Amino acid sequence: MPGLIHWMHDTLSSFRPGERNASLHRSQFESLSKQIPILHVSLITNTLIVSYIHAPLAPRYLWLYVPGVICLFCLARLILWRREQGNTLDDATIARRLRATVALAGGLGIVFTSWALNLYPYGGPYEQGQLAFYMSITVLGCYLSLTHVPASTFLLFITVILPFSIFFAASGRPTYVAMALNMMIVAGAMGLVTIRYYRDFVDLVRAKESLTERQRETQRLSDENFRLANLDSLTGAPNRRRFFAELDARLAEARDQGRRLAIGLIDLDGFKPVNDIYGHARGDELLVMVAERLTTVCGARAMLARLGGDEFGLLMSDPEDERDVRGLGAAIIRALQEPFEMPLTRVRISGSAGFAMFPAAGKTGAALFERADHALYHAKETRRGSVVIFSAEHESRIRQTAQVAQNLRTADLENELRVAFQPIMDARTGRTTGFEALARWTSAKLGEIDPEVFIRLAERHNMVNELTRVLLGKTLRSAALWPDHLRVSFNLSTHDLASPDAMTRIVDILRRSPFPVDRIDFEITETAVFVDFEQARLSIEALKTLGARVSLDDFGRGYSSLAYVQQLPLDRIKIDQSFVADIETNAASRNIVKTIVDLCRNLGLSCVAEGVETRGQLRALRELDCHTVQGYLFARPMAGERIPAYLLREATRPAEPATATEREIA
Ligand code: C2E
Ligand code: CA
Ligand code: CA
Repeated sequence: MPGLIHWMHDTLSSFRPGERNASLHRSQFESLSKQIPILHVSLITNTLIVSYIHAPLAPRYLWLYVPGVICLFCLARLILWRREQGNTLDDATIARRLRATVALAGGLGIVFTSWALNLYPYGGPYEQGQLAFYMSITVLGCYLSLTHVPASTFLLFITVILPFSIFFAASGRPTYVAMALNMMIVAGAMGLVTIRYYRDFVDLVRAKESLTERQRETQRLSDENFRLANLDSLTGAPNRRRFFAELDARLAEARDQGRRLAIGLIDLDGFKPVNDIYGHARGDELLVMVAERLTTVCGARAMLARLGGDEFGLLMSDPEDERDVRGLGAAIIRALQEPFEMPLTRVRISGSAGFAMFPAAGKTGAALFERADHALYHAKETRRGSVVIFSAEHESRIRQTAQVAQNLRTADLENELRVAFQPIMDARTGRTTGFEALARWTSAKLGEIDPEVFIRLAERHNMVNELTRVLLGKTLRSAALWPDHLRVSFNLSTHDLASPDAMTRIVDILRRSPFPVDRIDFEITETAVFVDFEQARLSIEALKTLGARVSLDDFGRGYSSLAYVQQLPLDRIKIDQSFVADIETNAASRNIVKTIVDLCRNLGLSCVAEGVETRGQLRALRELDCHTVQGYLFARPMAGERIPAYLLREATRPAEPATATEREIA
């Protein structure tokens, strides 16, 4: 009994609207829909058979009209049901249909029972037997068809089985009582089977539901995974991985369709200082703004990705020609040069771009990327804010460079490297105050190599620390022979400053050398400081602690930041040669030199102008109060062995600004 009540509760509550019930109802309805035709056809045919048997015996209304109406009703319902097949019904309609089915089962139960009981007295024992058989077998058939709507089977039990059983039992005839008993037992058993079947059905529906839910969750997670794996978390732009996947895909497409493809790399100039000076949070904000700006500029023309740090990549499918690519590159650089408005500050940066084009520059993704990187490197070298497209000329230069690099790797550095010394002069007295040490390499196979070339190569191939070690040793050995008032300037590479190991070795050499450290000026460039400000500062401080002085070389050439000058313990600034070269003709250069000289005076730093080649340049520098100078006008870099003779000549000359022009160079 409690089981029955429980079942009733479940069954009735399953008709309440709600998301959970909605899907159960839908499943119930779908299963029911399959049974409805069989149910109605069997009802109609069985009823017709009973009518036919009773036609000679019962009054017309009982054997014809009533069953006729019942059959027509069933037929109509069957047709309506069929017509609705294929329509997608909403949840509310389905719930309504199910409720109607339950009500109808009850209603039809009453109608059939009343009809059969009314017909009963007209038949003889055989007809009555057939009628009882008809009712019980039909109701069991209905039971089976309606298992998915158990409330209706329950109503059938109440409206058909129960009255019939009572009716037969009340007859008092033992066969009829037995039949009533049989009917009750079978109907009861079938009822239990139905309940159990329905329970399993509900469980199945719920299991299917949770499976779908789990599938949906899995899909969501996999979408999320895809996003994380392919998009840069900071800027939301496609990431490096996505970039290379896309490169492969577009390359295959370009190859198949015989089209061009351009791959571009963009590197920001001046991003590092923003990061160092304003903090990483500001740096991140700037990167987000940059990514937004670049994405807008690229629009549908190219896909932009963040490759890491301040490096971006872009893929341009099917560009018209080189001009097309250069145009996009220029638009990108222009967009980067517009100031960025940040909270409390306005930041100015710039960028350089390098491109490589398929098929001219390479056939594979890796080759194209490498060529674009090479072009970018050249863009940064030649002029910041420029766009370089990889060309045949670059290709042959790469070959040469590879050859030089190969020779550098196998060079006997101790024997092949030399140091040349160029005097640094006091313009007022015309006397040498010190010498700058400049590296020279005569390769056993390739001959004399430009220092700009081999120093950069050594930096790229991680050999520069080794070069510095050899050069510093040679420099100090030469300088140890000089008179006490002369200083020596030694160039350090970015890579020396950035490496604590290299610095330890340098400090070691300084400690062991007889040459006093306080007569050494280390020249560092701004780029050295850009790469890793903190490490550069530590390295500079280590040198200062030993008593050395530090100069900032090539000031004004790149991205000059006054903030750096202020934050570093510098002693001297060397004005870049390019300003000296046109100081007589270019007012802007003249102004820049004046500004740097004033800055040095305000900060208590000394100031050197290098690359002085003419008397006119010297005069202009003197007028601007720049009195420490260096250049071909005074002397070209010379071998260490020639220094004693040079100094002797200087000593025997009257104390007046003499120049090399007036001496042997002319
Ligand atoms: P830098 O440090 O700016 O060196 C000055 C360069 O200007 C030297 O070129 C020097 O020969 C040249 N120079 C001097 N006076 C004049 C002049 O009046 N007119 C012109 N046009 N040039 C003049 P160099 O020796 O070819 O060195 C080039 C660069 O290579 C150096 O520029 C420096 O960045 C690098 N370098 C040279 N030696 C070393 C070294 O031992 N270590 C490192 N890390 N870099 C070095
Ligand atoms: Ca220098
Ligand atoms: Ca310089």
